[in-house]
Amino acid sequence: MTIHGVGLPHGRIEVVCGPMFSGKSEELIRRIKRAIIARQRVQVFKPAVDTRYSSTEVVSHGDLRLEATCVPSSAELAKRVSARTEVVGIDEAQFFDDDLASVCDALANRGVRVILAGLDMDYRGKPFTMMPRMLAIAEIVTKIQAVCMVCGAPASFSQRLSRDQKVVAIGSSETYEARCRRHFEPEEEQQIALTRRRAEVLKVPPQEADAAK
Ligand code: ADP
Ligand code: MG
Repeated sequence: MTIHGVGLPHGRIEVVCGPMFSGKSEELIRRIKRAIIARQRVQVFKPAVDTRYSSTEVVSHGDLRLEATCVPSSAELAKRVSARTEVVGIDEAQFFDDDLASVCDALANRGVRVILAGLDMDYRGKPFTMMPRMLAIAEIVTKIQAVCMVCGAPASFSQRLSRDQKVVAIGSSETYEARCRRHFEPEEEQQIALTRRRAEVLKVPPQEADAAK
């Protein structure tokens, strides 16, 4: 581990977490834009698996955009960080491999400010991949909430509206919505019932209700 001497920059890890639609990407973009205004050298990354809107930008649901590099792994991310970079932003951190924690640790130890945005829980309400570890080693954790799409209360859960069993199912408003604890239905049967109710409302066969919205 590097010992920080007097005059060396202070590296740190900041994590912005919460459910889908809570504004994690917006907050990451806001922090990175301020660093750019402060004339710091920044680099932004996102996992190659997340190509929902763009492979060269971080894009928020409100359509804020920031140039970013897609990388397939945390090892590749580490390789791409230039020696002069002062701030590293990482969006959709939960889709990276477990080594992301040690990569961020090493960057922070050499003086880099690392800002990560990512889901803390998956659609079952379980901690997402290495995110609990990231929260533990970060200096600053900001947990934000979305708006529950059933009742309008603050929402901390991501409700999946389809029957796709894979934990990593890339999607956005067609397949997920933000829910508060009261209206979050993580069980598979409840999700299927939800799809059926949705199909009834939309007047389409259940298999089409997953895709339609
Ligand atoms: P995240 O990265 O956490 O998924 P984004 O930063 O991409 O979130 O998007 C946040 C934006 O999404 C909000 O500013 C708002 O415009 C929009 N939005 C859509 N649905 C919701 C919701 N249920 N709760 C809050 N914001 C929502
Ligand atoms: Mg986001």
